[in-house]
Amino acid sequence: MNSATTELIALVKRADTLANIAGLLGWDEQVNLPPGAAEQRGAQMAALAAVVHTASSEPRIGALLAQLEQNGAAGLTDDERTIVRQARRDYDVATKLPAAFVEEKATQDSRGYHAWARARADNDFASYIPVLEKNLELVRREAAYLGKGDAPYDYMLDKHDPGLTAAAVDRLFGELKRELVPLVRQITASPVTARARTVGEKLRGFPIDGQRAFLREVTGRIGFDYNRGRIDVSLHPFCSGTGSDVRMTTRYKEDQPLDALLSSIHETGHGLYEQGLPADLLGTGLGINAGMAVHESQSRLWENQVARSRPFWRFFEPRWRELFPAQTAGVSSDELYLAINAVEPTLIRVDADEVTYNLHIILRFEIEKQLFSGELAVRDLPAAWLRASRELVGLEPANDREGVLQDVHWSGGAFGYFPSYCLGNMIAAQLWYRALALRPDLEADFARGDFSWLLEWLRENVHRQGRRFSALELVRRVTGEELSPRPLVRYLRERYGSLYGL
Ligand code: ZN
Repeated sequence: MNSATTELIALVKRADTLANIAGLLGWDEQVNLPPGAAEQRGAQMAALAAVVHTASSEPRIGALLAQLEQNGAAGLTDDERTIVRQARRDYDVATKLPAAFVEEKATQDSRGYHAWARARADNDFASYIPVLEKNLELVRREAAYLGKGDAPYDYMLDKHDPGLTAAAVDRLFGELKRELVPLVRQITASPVTARARTVGEKLRGFPIDGQRAFLREVTGRIGFDYNRGRIDVSLHPFCSGTGSDVRMTTRYKEDQPLDALLSSIHETGHGLYEQGLPADLLGTGLGINAGMAVHESQSRLWENQVARSRPFWRFFEPRWRELFPAQTAGVSSDELYLAINAVEPTLIRVDADEVTYNLHIILRFEIEKQLFSGELAVRDLPAAWLRASRELVGLEPANDREGVLQDVHWSGGAFGYFPSYCLGNMIAAQLWYRALALRPDLEADFARGDFSWLLEWLRENVHRQGRRFSALELVRRVTGEELSPRPLVRYLRERYGSLYGL
């Protein structure tokens, strides 16, 4: 690397280290904070945010970037180009937004969250309208500051997934919707759906200690390195941190033992990605994830393709029965498999299974698109939601709490975030079939409790690439094909077709 790049890396890593400290405070807030300490923590976070901003907008970074970008960055290696591109992206965000705007947005985010929580509790959408209108206005202004004022929704999509556009998502989701809606109707009509529900209700009274021990064995066996990460309890499961300090969380319910297990396998997928980034370049373009969709592909692949499969359970089921002999006595292996793969349409996104989940995302994308194009006014959201829910999910919310008020995202201006979840499912399925083509015995490995081939393949092709490629480029390079919903549809038909007798 030339000396300007080396200096740039040092400055970028310093800003990233400070941001990681802020992340750790955020983790601690969710996991350990005494109830009376919220205000003090707020002050700590605000002080640290100012420090992070100063480090990220350091003028020397701008000078180095200008120098390195000369003549179209000619003369730089591929690695250097990736580092410069990402540093430019971060530097522009840190320097192009006026301080007054950043402050206005921070105040509005916090106000928006509380307004949403109140509106949801009172089922009062009207009180939430001015918040959403203001948030949309702020997003448009933010896009304009960064030179994307003519395409604010593309700007928001790109913010979460570099290189993504509304046109690309529209094409992918359109194709998925045509296949998925009839598939879900078929599953819903199958008598197996009711049986899956009954089996789920048999799984009761699993002691938390046993659940904790089991999920730790499973996630460790998959490859999560507990020497460089940990798992704790929080209200909503998440994964934060990176490199050698990855923090996952889960939550336990005695009567829903599969919940904590599958959600912690999901978080393990995120954690493996972060643990697999190149350690010496953390925080640079080569040591950062490729975006939300690729991140989500890693969590979904381990949770769905791997942990909902029969071979996976062939290995882990005996241990599960050993830990919970009384609770599992009346449950056959087939019933367990059915409970793990229960499908039933629901109004609430976070309660959805892996099949119908995608419909919830398509619904949100279609609504966001119309909000940004001006076709849909904020005050008309509840009616639009109802129509879309009937058409896509096949269910009508009885009130806004079960409809447009259910998600927190828009209250903080996080438009364009939802599509990543569904794109993650598509990428996961496409990676999965590529892995199977390269190693046809992959599932036989799982049945022996060996997950090392899959993890190493992901390490090499996804984790160690950092942000060298956009999500779409990464998929093209690893699988040899453009991102498409077809592998996801194939996977869902294969898994659920036989199980539900379609
Ligand atoms: Zn996730």
